Amino acid sequence: LGVPAVEALQPADVRALLPHPSDVAHKYTRGVVGVRAGSGTYPGAALLAVSGANTGLVGMVRYVGPEDIAHTVRSAHPEVVGAGRVQAWVVGPGGGDDAGTMLAEARADGVPLVVDADALRHVDRPLPGCVLTPHAGELAAMLGVERAEVEAAPLGFARDAARRWGCVVLLKGHHTLVADPAGRVRVTTTGVPWLASAGAGDVLAGVVGALLAAGLEAYDAASVGSWVHGAAATEASAGGPLTAGRVAVQIPRLVRDVLAGL
Ligand code: AMP
Ligand code: MG
Repeated sequence: LGVPAVEALQPADVRALLPHPSDVAHKYTRGVVGVRAGSGTYPGAALLAVSGANTGLVGMVRYVGPEDIAHTVRSAHPEVVGAGRVQAWVVGPGGGDDAGTMLAEARADGVPLVVDADALRHVDRPLPGCVLTPHAGELAAMLGVERAEVEAAPLGFARDAARRWGCVVLLKGHHTLVADPAGRVRVTTTGVPWLASAGAGDVLAGVVGALLAAGLEAYDAASVGSWVHGAAATEASAGGPLTAGRVAVQIPRLVRDVLAGL
């Protein structure tokens, strides 16, 4: 019928795809992820994106941004260091008016990107190997359609966008869709509606960026990242309300349980 099969990752798939540090790993072989996020208007987005990146899935996290925000990031995450080589960039959460510059600077490095939030408005060419992480409103703005149209046919719009920008599109929502330019689609249903809160997407961008830096293909990084983010949220929520920062804190335990086959 020409209707694409949509697959859902199972815990065993996630276990196999997650990074497994070898006995002789060092921090650089595990991958270095960089975060360009936050602005005077949205400093907290930098902290949340960094907290999603800094859950132990990579060897190092770098943050590049305004010095006052960098100071706050380092106070909350003493592991985080400054500018230098990275294997992937997370660009855009809370970027505001600086998001275009953030995207241009990150793109100049020639490594895979996770493009989120305000940076999505500046995507003007194909980005092979990268991941775009819009919600329905952001994808609608990118495609010049109404949000309601995307909400009515998310699968079609996610696939169209992936083909148009030659990269993976992670369309966030109650169920999250991950589409690649070849037409493959994975759906993530591990989340919980309590996750619909400010900052949740910033954490997700950080998680996906860490997995990209750890060496996962964009399609796997996006689908494993959204699976882990949703499952961590569901555990942290335990049926009750949730804030975004708690999702990041839950991730190491969630990953441990997945690796243990629990
Ligand atoms: P953002 O819109 O960038 O803050 O991202 C919101 C995050 O919350 C994404 O990970 C969404 O998938 C998730 N989310 C939003 N609404 C729901 C919902 N109704 N059920 C489950 N997850 C949701
Ligand atoms: Mg967002």
